[in-house]
Amino acid sequence: MRMAFTLDDLPVYPHLALPDGHTPVSVAARIIDALDRNGVSGVFALANSWPLDTDPELARILDDWVAAGHHVGNHTHSHPLLNDVSAEEFNHDVSVADALLERWTCKAPLRVFRHPLELWGNTEDKRVRVNAHLEALDYHCAGVTSWFYEWEWDRAWRHLLQTGRADEAEALKSEFVDYVAAQVAHDAATCKTVFGHDLVAIGLIHPVAFFTEVADKFFERLFAEGVSFVPLAEALQDPAYAQSGTSVSDAFLVYQNKVALAEGRHLDAVPPTHKACLERVFELATPLRPPRRGILVQNMRPWPNGWEGSRP
Ligand SMILES: [Zn+2]
Repeated sequence: MRMAFTLDDLPVYPHLALPDGHTPVSVAARIIDALDRNGVSGVFALANSWPLDTDPELARILDDWVAAGHHVGNHTHSHPLLNDVSAEEFNHDVSVADALLERWTCKAPLRVFRHPLELWGNTEDKRVRVNAHLEALDYHCAGVTSWFYEWEWDRAWRHLLQTGRADEAEALKSEFVDYVAAQVAHDAATCKTVFGHDLVAIGLIHPVAFFTEVADKFFERLFAEGVSFVPLAEALQDPAYAQSGTSVSDAFLVYQNKVALAEGRHLDAVPPTHKACLERVFELATPLRPPRRGILVQNMRPWPNGWEGSRP
């Protein structure tokens, strides 16, 4: 199967503290090196521009990313959640990022936007006004068909390290890679269920320290599973991806599950074979998870809908 690999929230992933010895620059550098070692090129990073306001030195991360042959797209300035803000606030945030990221986005083969948490608008008014703004700025919206909750795996891994359980922390790495293989297969199947044909998958990872520990194993395993990595533009050629932003919802779901939900179908977010594994990871992550807020709090229901409350 083919997959376009993407990275969200460069240059600084805001929701997690980095472990000692890691910095946003070192995490990005290790991901760039892993992509290079594994021959994965032309990867889109959907970037937030707020770090450029707080520390202009962080621009170096985006410079290095583009110098390594990868691309930058717009993921808003401050990562507002469309469930929580007005269309005007959101559109302003998009425009701020549009201006601040322009020096990198202008070098990309495609103008790409990704909604924070893939939230397209929880009211019709927001959905329409945000879509109109993105269209006016000539953005292609890139959905996500596979994400891997690596932000929770990162918390679980750090919690195990902090509590002296180094062996368990190490074991988490191969458990993650096994789970990723299952999630990719699960998502390919749900895409086929929803759209009636195989899609070029769109995978997503965030720049967290845990991923830098497992990146080589991650790519090796996906290659072994028959995955080949292709440009995002190749994925977005499929008309199946034209449904981004077409439904009103407050749900945190991957693309195909959101399209299915608009049609009244609730599909499993994670492979049934790995629910117990993920429940344990979420449990281990709990001490390091920040308090939830807004609609995500209300969405926190017992399993299985609890996945929708896992904020990346
Ligand atoms: Zn994001």
